[in-house]
Amino acid sequence: MDSIGGHTATGGRRRRVLFFPLPYQGHINPMFQLAGLLHARGFAVTVFHTHFNAPDKSRHPAYDFVPVPVSDCLPEGSSDVFQVTVEHILAVNRACEALFRERLAALLSEDQAARDDVACLVADAHLLTLLDVARGLGVPTLVLRTGSSACLRMFAAFPMLCDKGYQPAQESQLEAPVRELPPYRIRDFPSTTSAYHGVISEVISHIVTAVTTSSGLILNTMDALESGELASLRRDLGVPVFDIGPLHKLSPAASSSLLLQDRGYLEWLDAQAPASVLYVSFGSLASMSAAELVETAWGIANSGHPFLWVLRPGLVRGTSPSEAEAPPLPDGFDDATRWRGVVVSWAPQEEVLAHPAVGMFWTHCGWNSTLESVCAGVPIMARPCFGDQMGNARYVEHVWRTGLTLDGELVRGKVEVAVAALMGPGEPGAGLRRRAQELRSSVAECMAKDGSSCTNVDKLVDHLLTL
Ligand code: UDP
Repeated sequence: MDSIGGHTATGGRRRRVLFFPLPYQGHINPMFQLAGLLHARGFAVTVFHTHFNAPDKSRHPAYDFVPVPVSDCLPEGSSDVFQVTVEHILAVNRACEALFRERLAALLSEDQAARDDVACLVADAHLLTLLDVARGLGVPTLVLRTGSSACLRMFAAFPMLCDKGYQPAQESQLEAPVRELPPYRIRDFPSTTSAYHGVISEVISHIVTAVTTSSGLILNTMDALESGELASLRRDLGVPVFDIGPLHKLSPAASSSLLLQDRGYLEWLDAQAPASVLYVSFGSLASMSAAELVETAWGIANSGHPFLWVLRPGLVRGTSPSEAEAPPLPDGFDDATRWRGVVVSWAPQEEVLAHPAVGMFWTHCGWNSTLESVCAGVPIMARPCFGDQMGNARYVEHVWRTGLTLDGELVRGKVEVAVAALMGPGEPGAGLRRRAQELRSSVAECMAKDGSSCTNVDKLVDHLLTL
């Protein structure tokens, strides 16, 4: 572990913020963006991390890293990515507890100055056990919740939703609206049936406890997107709330991508007409069956548009993310799409979405992907898979009205119709594009000097200095 005594330009000791991200791409990115933001504001940075999905330290030479090298603790025997992820989160908490306590205690005992320098631990909201450890050692905690405010509000209301019979969900009730939390329907909740109710309730209750026992909540969102939801969290949670999104725009952080981002086709993108390209990516965890992959491929091919498709190893259920090769494409796909499209295993997504050639984004609606699309003013075709993605897609289609959801069975004909609707010159495409641009401008206002997110960054910095 490197020494902890950084200095400010004026010669005073720097306050240090400790970070512990949940080891998943969609959680690592905003945590590193937050670290980058606070580092730029003069804080020293120490990142605790597991070996599973460990960050590449060479990209962040100014930070200290403290490994908490526990075994992967990935649950075996299930191909259901949602179940595996939720159980893994609980297992990571258990597995890291003792070693994190040891490593943090060692860091604090370097000398009294080291202890005084530590302002707080910022950990992912999924890491309640580790937040408890830090508090037990006298370190104040803040929580980064990497999803939307609407999702956290729903989590906070979860016991009430169970009391009222919304959860566990009945198969016959999935389309029913949740009157207490518009615009959600029952199907927009993370757990739609009783199979995972126990484990989901546990994870949700840990998240809410992590937030309410902390000294502050940091959210990667902004007033322009979720003013009502933020007001409700401020009213109900009893902790200071700092909405400082979109972090990928406000932070100077280097990429924290776990996979190598293929940049070889950016020139191809430069050669495409404005707003003509269909960008397709389902993030780092979402999966589909082999049959759905075939329908996806032909839907993209038959749309007739130029496309950039991220076909990640492990995307097809039953194949491993560690395989070097992406899943095979159907026979005839290459011939049918020659010169018209590019298939890559991982992309520099923020750059791609911000490229003027990109006209729409077919996404699983992970919160980072949703925000990145909003910031780029790109309309969305949503195909949510699990977790908070259904709720995000609901906001895209029914609140911001910047996209459409591809519901039900995934078949090529539906993809073709939806792409034509989004990319076509008439409605609904024209309206979706207009609103996507308007939303982009409103978000830009939040990021401007005196905008809500910028002001909240200042407030967060002040808050950290008082801890
Ligand atoms: N991402 C990327 N390259 C890709 C696809 C995704 O860098 O080809 C990034 C994307 O920019 C986002 C993150 O991976 O920041 C995915 O997070 P999200 O919350 O959208 O989904 P998750 O992977 O957590 O389901």
